[in-house]
Formats: sequence, C-alpha cells, structure tokens
Amino acid sequence: MEYMMKQISKNLEEIKEEIHKACEKAGRNPEQVKLVAVSKNFPVEIIKTAYDLGQRLFGENRVQELGTKTPLLPSDIEWHLIGTLQRNKVKDVVGVTTLIHSVDSLSLAQEISKQAFKRGLTANILLQVNIAQEDSKHGFEAGGLLKEIKEMSSLPGIKIKGLMTIAPLVENPEEVRPVFRQLKALAGEIKQLKLYGVEMQELSMGMSHDFTVAVEEGATLVRIGSRIFGKRN
Ligand SMILES: *Cc1c(COP(=O)(O)O)cnc(C)c1O
Repeated sequence: MEYMMKQISKNLEEIKEEIHKACEKAGRNPEQVKLVAVSKNFPVEIIKTAYDLGQRLFGENRVQELGTKTPLLPSDIEWHLIGTLQRNKVKDVVGVTTLIHSVDSLSLAQEISKQAFKRGLTANILLQVNIAQEDSKHGFEAGGLLKEIKEMSSLPGIKIKGLMTIAPLVENPEEVRPVFRQLKALAGEIKQLKLYGVEMQELSMGMSHDFTVAVEEGATLVRIGSRIFGKRN
C-alpha cells in the first residue's frame, strides 16, 4: 500500500510536470489543462489513494462500474464518463457525472436532454468526433457534426462544452498531432456558428502515450489512466 501510494504520487507529479512543459512550449497557461485520472478497471482503494494525494477528477468508461464506485468514494470527487454510452443507460449517468465526454450521436444527445430536463438538471456534454475515421471508434464525422450540431444546440437540459477525440494508437505520438490539430480547428469552426448553448471551451484529447502532443495542440482535458495507475488487467 505504501509503495503504491509512492508510485501513484510520483506518476502524478511527473505527468503534471510534463503538462507544464508542454504548456510552456506552446505558450499556454497550465491552469487551462485539467487531468482526468482514468480509473477504469482499478478498485476503489486505488482511487482513494489518488484522492488522498489531492486528485479530485476521475474518469470511468463504463456506466455500471461508475455506478458501483461512486457511492463508495468521497462525494467531492468529480466524475466524468469517457466511454461509449448506450441510450438505455443515460438515466444512470445524468446527475452522477459533471461531464459526459462521449456523446456520439444526435439520438444520444436527445436522450440526455430528455433525462436531464425531466429532473430539472443541465447535463454538460462533449461531442466525440472520429477525426481519424477509424472503423473501430465511435463518434461523429466532422462533416456530419457540422450538420447536426444546430439541432443539438436547441435541445433543453444539455450544454455542449466542447469536443473529444481518441487518437489512433501509434508508436510515435507525433504521428497523431494532425488529429489533435483537426479537432481544435473543428471546434473553431463550430464556434463561428455562434449557436446558443454551445461553448466549445473544452477539448478532451490526449491519453497516457500522447498527452504532451495533445496539450501542445490545445487540449484542456487529458484522460490519463495507465501512466497514473499502471497496466490494466
Ligand atoms: C482508457 C481510456 C483512456 C485512458 O487510457 P490510458 O492509455 O490508460 O491513459 C482515455 N480515454 C478513453 C476514452 C479511455 O477509454
């Protein structure tokens, strides 16, 4: 346990240092970058360890896992859902998470809107974009998103805070720099539309192996799991 705490502490320090350096390189303010500690597949004891080290923002990718973990952990944790969300699970997420990163269709946005509105809440969401157009990944295509965002922006009970993407897994993260750049450009295009309820202030991009490049390209949320907690089983 002692060893684990030391290791997680060291990992968090190193990551923050690397975020700092990437911001310096890009002329950005490090306060604009938030670290989402991706705790999927890790038990609550390990999450509590990171919490005791000061981490307050955690990301889970499965609704069921989120549901079992949140009641067992301190209530001042901010939970983000980062994984694929099915429409029939939306009711279990609204009110539990402060941000849903993975909204990948108009119909999902409509369901979140419906559930949030019913409870008098506003759900903050990001729209997931499949920039690299990988068959294996969820998300809007850039062109399709530009067509559908207007309709989404008029839905009650949701606030569109920005975009999210998952870059392809490559050996050298420099290879996916264009992916991050394109997500940022798309957010800029959407901002130009000046749609009510659409803010585009958040860009969720970058994971353990590519977050420094993502930060250089404008990430405001980096989703990091294995670099903090170690390999997942
Ligand atoms: C698991 C996961 C991450 C974190 O991956 P690591 O490589 O462990 O940092 C980030 N984003 C999503 C959507 C994930 O599912």
